[in-house]
Amino acid sequence: MRLLFITLFLTSTLSQCTHAKERKPNILLILMDDLGYADVGFMPDAAKDIYTPNLDQLAQEGTIFTSAHVTHPFCGPSRTSIMTGRMPHALGAQYNLAAFSGNGITTSEKFISKAIDEAGYYTGIIGKWHLGEEEQFHPLSRGFDYFYGFLGGGHEYFSNTWIDPTSFNPSDYEAGNYPGNYNRPMMNGNEYIASDKGLYCTDVLTDAGIEFIDNASKDDQPFFLWMSYNAPHTPVQAMPSDIEELQKILGNNAATKNKRLTYTAMMYNVDYNIKRLIDQLKNSNQYDDTMIIFLSDNGGKPPAGANNKPLRGRKGDAYEGGHRVPMFIHWPKGGVQEGKITSYNFSTLDFYPTFAALTGAKIDDGKITEGINVWNDIVNLTDPRKDKPLFIMRQMNGINRTGVIKNNLKLYTWGNGDWQLYDLSKDIGETNDVSSKFKKEVETMKRSIYEWTWTQKKPAFFDSPSYKFEENWNKNNMPNFGKTFGQMYNHEDYISPIK
Ligand code: CA
Repeated sequence: MRLLFITLFLTSTLSQCTHAKERKPNILLILMDDLGYADVGFMPDAAKDIYTPNLDQLAQEGTIFTSAHVTHPFCGPSRTSIMTGRMPHALGAQYNLAAFSGNGITTSEKFISKAIDEAGYYTGIIGKWHLGEEEQFHPLSRGFDYFYGFLGGGHEYFSNTWIDPTSFNPSDYEAGNYPGNYNRPMMNGNEYIASDKGLYCTDVLTDAGIEFIDNASKDDQPFFLWMSYNAPHTPVQAMPSDIEELQKILGNNAATKNKRLTYTAMMYNVDYNIKRLIDQLKNSNQYDDTMIIFLSDNGGKPPAGANNKPLRGRKGDAYEGGHRVPMFIHWPKGGVQEGKITSYNFSTLDFYPTFAALTGAKIDDGKITEGINVWNDIVNLTDPRKDKPLFIMRQMNGINRTGVIKNNLKLYTWGNGDWQLYDLSKDIGETNDVSSKFKKEVETMKRSIYEWTWTQKKPAFFDSPSYKFEENWNKNNMPNFGKTFGQMYNHEDYISPIK
């Protein structure tokens, strides 16, 4: 027995030494904006009018996740979780940031980019930021060595409409209420830059990504690159040539409605741009050592052309269509299995500790991470969230759209105290309320999400004043949990003691 112990000890020590000499992996995080659940070809229920062969090939050479969840059904709060490993509600970040508002995600949270940067990585974000614009909130202050893109929540796609930097002065505009937000010139680092006319945003961002990978490969440092595409977020704008090509390729399967056709062409463009990134990884000898994760920051918005079928709901909802997103992970050399589809629940809360483990980044003492390192579950295709609840809550205009998923069950309320229960393993579209058959589970799950609300903080900021979110919050005595959970808990105070 003792001999066995020593042998195991030596083997383990040796294997650690070998690992220490191994190159750390690059991470390429590709985050789409408002991408519908059916709007990539690799998902099992993909829409027929979508054509994404390059993404499909990557996904099929890796593992596809059909139950991946973000923490909030719209942009800023969802991205906050990816960067911090916290629910946005715990940071007062339940709302989007308005342009030039002066607000941002609290600097008391160290972003994963900063931790990875400190572990010796070359780090970059290209595209949409939406996590704060002032110097202390800027990507370059949050651990990114390189930033190319825009600080707001969206962008016009055609460069003809981008403001010339020589005639652009942010101080001319009213904080939190800037109509030209989506027309701002692109930024490189801290500088607004001029762009040629006739360019398309997704192409421009990909060009920057290719250059980043090329530069990174000339160095011994591994890299962390967040490709934060704004596609297919509004405005729904595609290159006419992409629309024509897509129609030729798809024939009768091409979308007929103009908005949907344009949206599908935006994704066709994304797809061939991903191919350009992959080609650069290969040309730079980085492909084998790069873990690629692809997902959306929240559900699609059908009025803007998206398709979330077979899910119920859309961006902004606590139904699955708001927060269950298409996702794959590709890294054969790292052990990610090829050609697999997993339906286990996965949460972006787990990105922070998982990325930290893969990169050797240190999680600071005292830093709260609400998820865990799930790399073994990813590689072994085991359940990373077994018996662990996943919460979703959107607070608006007097109600809390609220959901909790535990294993295959989903509890949902519109915020009026009427709770519905769905068995997602049989009813992914949330159509058949089985709450009367599972009364005990309803109470347990309701209790879990109620207790989770104790970790929430009052919003540190609201979106643009024009939306009147703050006014509504005050008028409706939000968060108004009594209305959501009923009076049984006698809990009308907003904040419970936070341990
Ligand atoms: Ca979004």
